[in-house]
Amino acid sequence: MTCKQLGGACDIEFHANTFEEIAEMSKKHGMQMFQKGDANHLKAMNEMQELMKAPDAMNEWFENKRKEFNKLPENK
Ligand SMILES: [Zn+2]
Repeated sequence: MTCKQLGGACDIEFHANTFEEIAEMSKKHGMQMFQKGDANHLKAMNEMQELMKAPDAMNEWFENKRKEFNKLPENK
């Protein structure tokens, strides 16, 4: 899945066997971009943080992404 598909801001691709792994990779990448001060990622992260304020919305987002991930060929 790409950074964008996971709520980020660029087209970098992550490959993992489980959704938890890919979520972790995307989080690390997000932190790196945050440290670099990348404006697009900062914006995307702010939006994610807004989402996290509502646990229900966050869970729903997470489950939707998990489904998306599971639908992809070879779980990429
Ligand atoms: Zn990115």
